[in-house]
Amino acid sequence: MQEKRIKKLSEQVIRKIAAGEVIQRPSSALKELIENSLDAGSTYIKIHLKKEGMNMLRVIDNGCGIQFQDLPRLCERFTTSKLSKYSDLKKITTFGFRGEALSSISYVSHITVITQTRGSQIGYKAEYKNGELVQSRSQDKKTNQDDQIKIIPVASIPGTQIDIENLFYNQPSRLRSFQKNNQETQKILHIVRCYSINNPQVNFIVTQEEKKLPLFICKYSFNANSLERIQEIYSIFVQKSFLNLQINTIIDQSFLLQLEGCVSNLNYFNKVKDSEKNIKKSNFILFINQRLVENKKIKIQINKIYKEILKTKDHPFIFLNLILPPECVDVNIHPSKKQVQFLQEDLILATIMNNLKTLLMNHLCEDQKEKEN
Ligand code: ADP
Ligand code: MG
Repeated sequence: MQEKRIKKLSEQVIRKIAAGEVIQRPSSALKELIENSLDAGSTYIKIHLKKEGMNMLRVIDNGCGIQFQDLPRLCERFTTSKLSKYSDLKKITTFGFRGEALSSISYVSHITVITQTRGSQIGYKAEYKNGELVQSRSQDKKTNQDDQIKIIPVASIPGTQIDIENLFYNQPSRLRSFQKNNQETQKILHIVRCYSINNPQVNFIVTQEEKKLPLFICKYSFNANSLERIQEIYSIFVQKSFLNLQINTIIDQSFLLQLEGCVSNLNYFNKVKDSEKNIKKSNFILFINQRLVENKKIKIQINKIYKEILKTKDHPFIFLNLILPPECVDVNIHPSKKQVQFLQEDLILATIMNNLKTLLMNHLCEDQKEKEN
């Protein structure tokens, strides 16, 4: 057999492979765009979908906007306004820092950006493919070669609109798998629900090309908090269906653990039996330092406690917003930032579980007392 030589992959192939890690589906692209809008200080985020986000995913925000001078490199890999030296990672408070999301999206779709900074009188439109600024599809091909000229001044309002069109147009197998399944709108709504619960100061709206009415609206109300958001989203179930879980404690005499959460009570299980599917689909929401993450260990332990104490087979509804000092959390273990690692995991989990147990035991006692009366 002929020996196989080791060759270096071309830059284009490397980028496409890396893009696939960050952007696995329309909802993962949306997560990145929402996080960028939140990082930009937005209080209004509107999402518009065509064909479950596959034909187009549009996010409009009222954040700080992107400066004209930054537009040529917006979709270049590893370009970010949020991190400049490695040590900044220890205390990072923004969602983004890798400068990878827009670049990755541009390798698997066509991006159009319209943006206007606050205080500016004019907006700019720019289009991107494969990490680069490209000529606008509406421009005359012969005339404009220069980067600066590819950016078109437009009438706009402060904030940013990003359109992602024809996602996975150059990845036929992925494209096919999404054409078959029509679960993506639900996945998108799950992401929006989670971020709107954890960001009650922000208005969220989701619309779909084929539908007249919005799929989702969450309006800001004065002093809104996450529990109110949950009530707004799952109205019929929520009345008297949740318990507040709050923790504020020093762990191992060295750092502060803060947790704000909403967890379901006995009432919830009675109501949810013949219920709406939405609440079952988004029934475990975990934010660590404002990042939406997955953590099977926490989920399994919580389900076990519910089984033991409330004797229920159904999955509880859990929303946890865990705040730890940034230096205790490593967010840099996966490009999609879906998983995070934290120091003293066992101690932290034990603290959360003990508090949850006490909360549920007290609830059980009160429920029994009420029944006796
Ligand atoms: P990261 O978020 O890791 O910095 P991204 O590729 O997601 O990387 O975004 C690159 C840069 O583009 C950001 O650092 C930010 O400066 C800018 N940007 C992206 N989206 C927005 C937005 N909606 N509003 C303002 N700036 C944005
Ligand atoms: Mg980002």
